[in-house]
Amino acid sequence: MRAVAYDAFGATPAVTTLPDPVPAPHGAVVRVEATGLCRSDWHGWMGHDPDIKAFPHVPGHELAGVVEAVGRDVRSWRAGDRVTVPFVCACGTCPPCLAGEHQVCDRQTQPGFTHWGSFAELVALDWADVNLVALPEDLGYVEAAALGCRVATAYRAVVQVGRVAAGERVAVHGCGGVGLAAVLVAVAAGARVVAVDPSPEARAAAARAGAEEVLAPGEDLRDVHLGIEAIGDEAAVAASLAGLRKRGRHVQVGLLPQGARVPMDLVIARELEVLGSHGMAAHAYPELLALRLPVADLVRREIALEEAADALVEMRGPGITVIRPRAPR
Ligand SMILES: [Zn+2]
Ligand SMILES: [Zn+2]
Repeated sequence: MRAVAYDAFGATPAVTTLPDPVPAPHGAVVRVEATGLCRSDWHGWMGHDPDIKAFPHVPGHELAGVVEAVGRDVRSWRAGDRVTVPFVCACGTCPPCLAGEHQVCDRQTQPGFTHWGSFAELVALDWADVNLVALPEDLGYVEAAALGCRVATAYRAVVQVGRVAAGERVAVHGCGGVGLAAVLVAVAAGARVVAVDPSPEARAAAARAGAEEVLAPGEDLRDVHLGIEAIGDEAAVAASLAGLRKRGRHVQVGLLPQGARVPMDLVIARELEVLGSHGMAAHAYPELLALRLPVADLVRREIALEEAADALVEMRGPGITVIRPRAPR
């Protein structure tokens, strides 16, 4: 198969030919039709993710496509099915999975981290019966790929972990893919959204997504019920907590591989909640899909596999870049 791969952390990625993956007995191999480019892929490439242990490595974890083959134990899927998958593939049988908390599975695998990912023509996925999600007929591959990571992550952060309520004031810190998705989800939930980002372009995108107020970092922010940190920046963590009203909730979504100082004095004095959010379970897809979010609006551009290597290195601009491995040649 053709794939984007790199041979060391920080080494220039390139399109190369690698052996086709084969499905595990419980797994599936999917022919990738669309796969999103995510800051997590960049973190992985930079060596920030301990799950990446072998080279060459193929990044990519937010995908949609067509089942190519399944392992002998798979019951629910067969070649030709249109599917997507959450980026955390759960085992379905460990204690968190048995409690329905697949997003924190003890044996989770993540394409593009624990094994080769979806910047490729083919990708192997584990425990297909647990993790594959059928695409509704009217949902395209690009929109489905955009849903799988940023939007699903935002949905869990805002709705399931953040417990957003209609009329609440929600601050979204960082308006990249997950931040813009959080704006969409919070607006759909009836919240009043203020979006914070240093980039005027990102603030404009947040306003188009429905934020009623946009701020640059450092501008006055207060009286927030729910703060979503979607960029992974220590100053944004502090700003989110400082903007919360008493008993407000802060949800950390942005990756902080080096950790961050948290102003615990504020957490105590205002009785704040500091919560983590990690992906979303496959079984939550129906409620997410029911929101009918205008996900296509988040997709800024579609690129070919050949352009993905440069795009991974650059990681620029708001919105979602989607790679089409089988783009018209
Ligand atoms: Zn992602
Ligand atoms: Zn599990």
